[in-house]
Amino acid sequence: MKKLQNYINGKFQAPVLGKYIENFDPSKGVVFSLIPDSDAEDVSLATEAAKAAFPKWSTMTLNERSEILLRLSKGIEDRMDEFVAAESLDNGKPVSLARQVDIPRAVSNLSFFATAILHFASESHYMEGVGVNYTTRKPIGVVGCISPWNLPLYLFTWKIAPALATGNCVVAKPSEITPYSAYLLSEVAMAAGLPPGVLNIVHGLGASAGDAIVKHPDIKAVSFTGGTATGAYIARTAGPMFKKLSLELGGKNPNIIFADCDFEDMLSTTVRSSFANQGQICLCGSRIFIERTIYDKFKTAFVEKVSRMKVGNPSDPSTKQGAVVSKGHMEKVLSYIALAEEEGGTILTGGNQVILDAPHDNGYYIAPTIIEGLPFDCRTNQEEIFGPVVTLCPFDTEEEALMMANATQYGLAATVWTTNLKKAHRMADEIHAGIVWVNSWLVRDLRTPFGGVKASGVGREGGWEALKFFTEPKNIFIKS
Ligand code: NAD
Repeated sequence: MKKLQNYINGKFQAPVLGKYIENFDPSKGVVFSLIPDSDAEDVSLATEAAKAAFPKWSTMTLNERSEILLRLSKGIEDRMDEFVAAESLDNGKPVSLARQVDIPRAVSNLSFFATAILHFASESHYMEGVGVNYTTRKPIGVVGCISPWNLPLYLFTWKIAPALATGNCVVAKPSEITPYSAYLLSEVAMAAGLPPGVLNIVHGLGASAGDAIVKHPDIKAVSFTGGTATGAYIARTAGPMFKKLSLELGGKNPNIIFADCDFEDMLSTTVRSSFANQGQICLCGSRIFIERTIYDKFKTAFVEKVSRMKVGNPSDPSTKQGAVVSKGHMEKVLSYIALAEEEGGTILTGGNQVILDAPHDNGYYIAPTIIEGLPFDCRTNQEEIFGPVVTLCPFDTEEEALMMANATQYGLAATVWTTNLKKAHRMADEIHAGIVWVNSWLVRDLRTPFGGVKASGVGREGGWEALKFFTEPKNIFIKS
């Protein structure tokens, strides 16, 4: 059985205590590899390596750093099939999705920041007759990057690319549930000539390896994506150490559909925005609000389309819904479906675990599920489920739709469907979210700010925001 290793100081290293965790293939429910169960000692070794690498890496020319990062990007692209297979095997997502979305996006995250850094300008502020201020932006030093399991390499590279491009050295931890593509990235980093210690990848559990990154005094900033409760813990722990924090957390995104929308475009996009990656994308719209005059028409068409989605083995090209990521997560999602029924909801389609034929009969499959008849403020409509489950709720006025959309602790993303431009602007302006899509979903421009408000996070990733996060500004004034 494959035994993954940490990538520390430019080479593979076994965890100091020699302990390993089982890594499951969710499509079959079987263990397929072992990963290091690292602890504070491994994080210390990684941090020492990063500290030693920092003086040289941070003072390289921008062109030199850029070229190395471009080689990393190319290295993933050259091994596309292997990365695609690894991501699907680890996560349960359809191979087709990993090929269209996850791995190409990891490639472009690296090439985007490798070239963005060449255009990163600092500010100057001229004071007539007084002097001039200029602001330098230097890398922070050693930074920590901690990522979740839903878009493993995509979100891992979304953090490490800007961190490295700005001249920091990194101690990174992928999710223990989906470590495989980050392990392959270590191989790519070695082949690409990334200097030892610049990027260190430590595998292990959140409570041990992750916690050690958050607490290490020499790791000066932490970029974290994951659940809101974990984010709160990290903020409590790292706050008193005055670490710079970027927290990208959970969501419960509204998808607001007005009667004057382009119905066919809305319908096919809403199937994707509800169920892509088995609903395990932080940006999925899990609460669908529909103007009452088209509620029945929408419900009939949506249920018909969703009930025809093929739940199947992720490597079958006709599969639309693969496995959810773990047994524990499957049980959590099914418990929310049971809760929805207790709260008075009606299941229109799905609602059950799906048992496939052998050898996938122990995999973690859930039929895409649509529920109606629930009040907007019940637990099902308030808590993040993060699976293939959406609720439908009618509304009569813009004010009512906004009130319900904003009535959660979260504020990550929202979608609005209308052909009325003024209404689109009004809604987009008033929705509590860091990202609003009008007549679309998941259209991403890597230059734009990415992140949420309220319990969905603190800070923004993407474009200049990420380059600013990973640098420390210093203002220098010169009297004229
Ligand atoms: P999680 O919080 O359980 O884990 C995320 C990462 O943090 C993992 O690597 C984990 O090992 C680590 N971790 C766990 N406990 C830790 C601790 N005490 N200290 C340090 N690190 C710790 O989240 P998850 O279940 O892996 O991911 C799902 C969540 O991520 C959902 O809530 C989803 O909405 C959120 N998410 C948010 C975004 C976004 O951009 N806002 C994107 C993707 C996923």
